[in-house]
Amino acid sequence: MPVHTRTCHICEANCGLLIETDGRRVVSIRGDSDDPISRGHICPKGNAIADLEADPDRLTSPMK
Ligand code: SF4
Repeated sequence: MPVHTRTCHICEANCGLLIETDGRRVVSIRGDSDDPISRGHICPKGNAIADLEADPDRLTSPMK
């Protein structure tokens, strides 16, 4: 499954993430050990991005 190198934008730390996906589904999120600042460390909010993505109440199109 593909692994995407991304940056967490939840806070100013901008930790490096490795996000594994299966189609549009997020399979796992872990810290990117190659990121020069966060060096593989992320907090629980970074891991919770998958929950935000899968939240059934998440808006996926404009309301108007
Ligand atoms: S993983 Fe946590 S500490 Fe890192 S940018 Fe995201 S919210 Fe901030």
